[in-house]
Amino acid sequence: MLQAKTNGKVLLSKNALKVLESRYLKRNTFGKVTETPLEMFQRVSKAVAQAELCWGSNTDVKVWEEKFYRMLTALHFLPNSPTLMNAGLSAPQLSACFVLPVEDHLKDIFSSLKLAALVQKSGGGTGFNFSHLRPKNDLLIHTQGQASGPVAFMKIFNTATTYIKQGGKRRGANMGILNIDHPDIEEFICCKRRENAFTNFNISIGIYDHFMNALQVDGDWLLIHPRTGAITKVVKAKHLWNLIIENAWSGGDPGLIFLDTINQFNPTPSLGTIEATNPCGEVPLLPYEACNLGSINVAAFIKQKKFDWPALEQTVILATRFLDNVIEASEFPSLRIKNMVKGNRKIGLGVMGWAEALSKLEIPYDSNHAVETGRTLMRFIAEKSLTASYMLARERGPFTNWQKHASNQHIPVRNATRTCIAPTGTISILANTSSSIEPYFALAYRRQHILEGSTLYESNNTLLEYLKQKHIDPAGVISHIEKTGTLRGMKSIPSSVKALFKTAPEIHPSWHLKHQKAFQEFTDNAVSKTINLPQKAKPSDVHDIYFSAWEMKLKGITIFRLNSRKKQVLDSGIKS
Ligand code: ADP
Repeated sequence: MLQAKTNGKVLLSKNALKVLESRYLKRNTFGKVTETPLEMFQRVSKAVAQAELCWGSNTDVKVWEEKFYRMLTALHFLPNSPTLMNAGLSAPQLSACFVLPVEDHLKDIFSSLKLAALVQKSGGGTGFNFSHLRPKNDLLIHTQGQASGPVAFMKIFNTATTYIKQGGKRRGANMGILNIDHPDIEEFICCKRRENAFTNFNISIGIYDHFMNALQVDGDWLLIHPRTGAITKVVKAKHLWNLIIENAWSGGDPGLIFLDTINQFNPTPSLGTIEATNPCGEVPLLPYEACNLGSINVAAFIKQKKFDWPALEQTVILATRFLDNVIEASEFPSLRIKNMVKGNRKIGLGVMGWAEALSKLEIPYDSNHAVETGRTLMRFIAEKSLTASYMLARERGPFTNWQKHASNQHIPVRNATRTCIAPTGTISILANTSSSIEPYFALAYRRQHILEGSTLYESNNTLLEYLKQKHIDPAGVISHIEKTGTLRGMKSIPSSVKALFKTAPEIHPSWHLKHQKAFQEFTDNAVSKTINLPQKAKPSDVHDIYFSAWEMKLKGITIFRLNSRKKQVLDSGIKS
């Protein structure tokens, strides 16, 4: 087994090493791993520091390389998976998030499919809005045939993804969106109802404010032909809404994206309207745009039950520079994408380890104190990364579309967006912390499917450390959490401790929403968040959450009701 060490300390958990070994470390042509984790961090730091050559002298490169290396090996910040996997290799593609257009011409559809294949091969995820496609059974003028419609075309994208294995590392991910006024919306809302349908897609409905207004007055809603503008059907807004709720309740899909809110915060409106996001929803992008992400392990910045703000500030500044450099260090699958990315230079700095940070601060996740702390934290990160991007603009120039299009940004910044909250599904395993801003899923769990043919077992080290600090005998705790995933029912554990280590299904959905809102307020992209519901939740609970999400001006919303799908990535409790 590989062991990464710095200053004599073992840095990476057993699970992190497993994940690195199976997916991230460089391999030779025979598939044999040829680098250690520390060499991987060196490779990434070096490749990203090389970008400094575009703006400065050779000598600075080594300095930045060392700074980046220290930040990565301390697990204070990790970039998104494609950067870790590909930086420094030949023709590296380093971004996790792409949006590609789907225009209503066969040639254009297949051009986007080809680009999607190239993006997915390199480990990036792709988002599409299928609303420009003419509806199913519409007449095709040249052939006198009938159109297949958005759902049929999405099937082709889904099948392609199944066979593009990202160099054997992981299967690709997509977001499919259809707007609420498309004639095929009913079919789309229900398209994931069958078990195993569209497994490579998350789906979301593009919602307009005027749809929500119609819903509130039980009004009619018009379905409009995207090419001719003709009304194809009049339905009750409530009918579509109930169909959405019913499907989300029974299987998690569809989520919603709120198009008007997203476009209200579009930093470059003169370049077009945003219609889609990346697969997990945290980055709304224009067609052909890409964004590279990175997340700060905020739990690592708690010292004696307080945030070490100066250290956090330094990391935010360095991480912002790192992400801006990644744009230079990256190759892109087409010139069009390259030009869009270089024109806007969007980056997405976010957080992981929020639940762990709260435990260390002794603040229960389901409390106003936690929500306010989240707001303070994200405001800090947003302000410091904005300043860092401003300083980079002075050094390197603002993003070119800022100059050309006098965008929504008032000050010259280097990056059209700086922040987003990604799910950190894999990088949080590498950093050995809780993912994103999610509460703990369980205190011990089995993670399925993440590596082909392999299962990871994880138990919550922060809890065990905490018990040790409080001189609470952990005997019995381990076997209890391995069986049930929670502290519930353990009489020997004080309720104050139980409150600090509640798991996602034990936390009322309204708290999940409040955290999403608090972080969204200071995030210029979006927040990827799953509102976890207990199995017994009703469709009316889903309604309440989806409706409040719109009222709260969130950019999107996703729920998951426990055990509502046969296959789950995470399973609470280890022994069954
Ligand atoms: P990681 O922890 O691997 O860096 P995240 O879980 O934070 O990634 O996801 C960030 C983004 O990366 C997603 O929204 C999506 O755009 C992309 N992504 C995640 N998983 C995949 C995948 N299996 N294939 C392609 N893209 C992915």
